[in-house]
Amino acid sequence: MVSTPETLIVALATPQGRGALATIRLSGAGAIALASRLAGRTHFAPRAATLVTLRLPPDDLTETALVTTFVAPQSFTGQECVEIDTHGGPVIVDAVLQACIDGGARLAREGEFTWRAYLNGRIDLLQAEAIADVIAATTRAQVRVASRHLEGALSAAIIGIGDDIARVRALLEASLDFPDEGFHFIERGDLVARLGLVHDACVRLLESADAGQRLHDGARVVIAGRPNAGKSSVFNGLLKRPRAIVTPVAGTTRDVLAEGTVFGGVPVQLIDTAGVRHTTDPVEQEGVARAEEATASASLVILVVDPSGTDEDREGSEALWATLDGRARLCVLNKMDKWRAQGTDASAMENWTPGASARGTHGVPDWCPADAIMVSALTGRGIDTLSERLAAELGQARWDGAILTRARHRSLVTACADAIARARATAVDEGSEEYILADLHDALVALEDLRGVETPDDVLETIFSSFCIGK
Ligand code: GDP
Repeated sequence: MVSTPETLIVALATPQGRGALATIRLSGAGAIALASRLAGRTHFAPRAATLVTLRLPPDDLTETALVTTFVAPQSFTGQECVEIDTHGGPVIVDAVLQACIDGGARLAREGEFTWRAYLNGRIDLLQAEAIADVIAATTRAQVRVASRHLEGALSAAIIGIGDDIARVRALLEASLDFPDEGFHFIERGDLVARLGLVHDACVRLLESADAGQRLHDGARVVIAGRPNAGKSSVFNGLLKRPRAIVTPVAGTTRDVLAEGTVFGGVPVQLIDTAGVRHTTDPVEQEGVARAEEATASASLVILVVDPSGTDEDREGSEALWATLDGRARLCVLNKMDKWRAQGTDASAMENWTPGASARGTHGVPDWCPADAIMVSALTGRGIDTLSERLAAELGQARWDGAILTRARHRSLVTACADAIARARATAVDEGSEEYILADLHDALVALEDLRGVETPDDVLETIFSSFCIGK
């Protein structure tokens, strides 16, 4: 994004359309003078809302508005800024925008206010991303994390790691500068220990990346299993409404069904699939193929098992469970009410507790994991426990502090951690300080890229182009 930083820009900061109020924002040299001309007054107290009558050309249309001025650098962009609150009618908004353009401003591009805030050092790149995230958020957990990042929590964590690296680097450089003194400013053991601590700090951040990216991008949770295991019933139970058709006829769900919901603050696409079995029906075959495709790309798979089903069903479920080995998966034992009715093991079944370990319970196949969740989708029992488990698997108990939410964050913190690990290995092997310094330099560059201290234009372009106008 090429911009002349001092050009006066204007944009509607509130949504297009009709509303009670609209906010029009100006940034750049001459913003206050322009507002003064439109309002017919020479002075505004900075950062105080002033009620004015705007006179809008060409026909002196009048509009009662609130004008707030910000003197540079005490503004969001770091430049002279004005915010004009008008009535939220499109004609008025257009008239004010046109008056500003006639008065020397040009329409702002996407994200140009935030871009200027970044250029002027008011925020770093992590905070600029956080502004976009606060606005795009669909859950409170997303807002919580984005707000903390906007306040600078992630930037502070990155700066802290960078400072630790810089301190070690300074000591090593001092050692190099005085080679004849016969002493080192930092002992090997101390160096190894310090680099170990810095590496640990990177690893702790990286540990937040899976959950953080799920929070940011959303998760795909696929309900899989044999026909008639009760997948659609579990799907409806989790959504708390009868979204999917439920019938005793095996093979009812032919296509994948997807619905948006939230578990643990994470936006989730919950996906119901066709039961996996061999079939000659071409429509069902396509359904099975789509089910397998959906399962392959899932963040987490819920395998619904009906332990009261046929031997073929039980064997099929076991085979499906095996194909999910190494993936994020949950096993759900459905139709618990039916077991009880059949009286297979009255005492165990009478007392089945949602969420209790299923293993060892009469009738539960040996391959089922100990943490399989017993439910009855028909009565709804156990579904809340399943929801809580999903929340725990996908989310975090506390969405707080510094969390890596984007692939960009993960790859740069990984680059930093790798460089630190190389430096530490060289230190352990008593290698030369120059090699260690080169790796520490790489580690610092990765952290600077993360905060956008020296980020290539194309990366910035990608980030800021996702903003909307007025932001
Ligand atoms: P799907 O083919 O795996 O999606 O299974 P459905 O959800 O369509 O259910 C198949 C049949 O099992 C329907 O007749 C449901 O009413 C029944 N069913 C589902 N869950 C339960 C349950 O927990 N208990 C009992 N007794 N029947 C259930």
